[in-house]
This record gives sequence, C-alpha cells and structure tokens, in this order.
Amino acid sequence: MADEKLQRLEIVTPVRKVYTEDVRMVVLPGSEGEFGVLPDHAALVSALKIGVIRVHHEGKVTKIAVSGGFVEVRDSKVTVLANSAERQDQIDVDRATAAKERAEQRLATQGADIDVIRAEMALKRAMNRLKSAG
Ligand code: ATP
Repeated sequence: MADEKLQRLEIVTPVRKVYTEDVRMVVLPGSEGEFGVLPDHAALVSALKIGVIRVHHEGKVTKIAVSGGFVEVRDSKVTVLANSAERQDQIDVDRATAAKERAEQRLATQGADIDVIRAEMALKRAMNRLKSAG
C-alpha cells in the first residue's frame, strides 16, 4: 500500500553501512528469541544473536545474515550495530563453505591448542551465512 507508514532501518558494522532504507517491518534474531518491529514500536535496546534479519517491504523479504550485535528501536528508527552483516547477495558461499569445513575440522580434532568456543562460533557464523544465502 502506498500510504503505509514506514520506519528507517540502518545496519552498521565497523567497516561499512550494510543497509539504509525506509521499510515496513523488520524481524530480528533477538537474544531471547525472534521479534518483529513495525513503525511506532515502543523504544527498546536488545542484544542480537547470530541469525537472519528479515526485512519486509513492498511484498518482498530481504534476508541479512548478522553475527550478533545490538539493536536500538526509537522514534520509528531501527539501528543495528553488528560485528559483521551481509545481505543475501553479498555472501560469498565458497568462503562460508571453507570456514564451515575449517571449524568442523578443528572441532573434530579437539587438540589442546583448539579454542572450542571460538571454533563453535565460527561454525555458527558460517552455517548462518549459508542458510541466508540459500
Ligand atoms: P572467515 O573465516 O571466512 O573470515 P569469519 O566468520 O571469521 O569468516 P567474520 O570475522 O565474521 O568472518 O567477518 C569478517 C569480515 O568478512 C566481515 O566484514 C564479514 O562481513 C566478511 N565476511 C565473512 N565471511 C563472509 C562471506 N562468506 N561472504 C561475505 N563476506 C564475509
């Protein structure tokens, strides 16, 4: 609908602005579970986990892979600050596949010099990118 109220979505990482658009609805991977934000939503700040941000606008859904971070909602503006985030079309599938295999190998080896949590997080990021790209 042409007269639908919109809200500004900005997704920012330390190296670039990934997304800036006026959109209808944003669904976010909150640390306590997925939640949706429409214009005029109550103000909030929430941590995000590794997951997919879904942007609903003009009948289309855009997927953005995010590796955790924070979201602030205020005055019909949604700001995501993340360590890394990629739109579906920006994801390098070969790179994510290689990262997944590397992490899986590290976890399978479980040597004394392996940081298990780090490898598990790398595996989650890679699987999330592959899911978002697909
Ligand atoms: P890798 O081991 O491949 O570097 P990673 O999960 O350790 O993966 P991050 O530290 O999360 O990578 O990201 C570093 C930068 O590289 C970020 O800017 C992120 O957007 C980008 N990036 C990482 N993996 C991919 C990918 N598969 N496609 C596109 N960009 C990627």
